[in-house]
Amino acid sequence: MDKINRTKVEKPDCLTDNDKKWTLDWKTRIKEGKKFTWHNYKTMDCQKTISKALSQITNSHCSYCGIYKLERGRITPTIDHFKPKSIYPDLSFEWSNLFISCNECQKYKGSFFPNNKEQNFRGNFYPKNIEPLKPDDKDYFFDYWFQIDWRSNKILPNEIRTKDEQKKALITINFFCLNEDGRPEAREEELLKYTKTQDINIFSYVFFLERG
Ligand SMILES: [Zn+2]
Repeated sequence: MDKINRTKVEKPDCLTDNDKKWTLDWKTRIKEGKKFTWHNYKTMDCQKTISKALSQITNSHCSYCGIYKLERGRITPTIDHFKPKSIYPDLSFEWSNLFISCNECQKYKGSFFPNNKEQNFRGNFYPKNIEPLKPDDKDYFFDYWFQIDWRSNKILPNEIRTKDEQKKALITINFFCLNEDGRPEAREEELLKYTKTQDINIFSYVFFLERG
């Protein structure tokens, strides 16, 4: 959940060359009830290429919760569609819609996305027409949108922002389930392990540690 700069890494060629073709293929597969596939490109596994590039952008942290280190066998990295590919097939191979994520965040998000109707999902209310913050948005700064309750280690909307901004922050917290299933405790544990002489980037929840 730290500031993500997508321009750090070039969009992989496989997307530049094939995004339109693969998007059409996915739309057909949806109609046929088939599963999504990442395809190969010039004998390369496109999934691996994209996953590697996205991991470089975040230094192997989850783009959403900040857990580290995403790697095979431990916390498996997965390519997540910020806007779900089932609802927004046109964004299925769109570079700016792809993020490296931990399994947990992807599972939490599922194929839900707030839209132009009021909705309830996972016990949370989503008003219409307010989208969660996208981690690579240019105005996405953790400090701007959020604050931390140090007693509970929960992430909360920044109370000095406008009502609408606080709504957006709250939707983002709920969308990524940042305060659920032991996540505040996991952040506190990481904070206790971290000492300021160490490289902060090899820890989880960098945004949280910076303020601790
Ligand atoms: Zn995550």
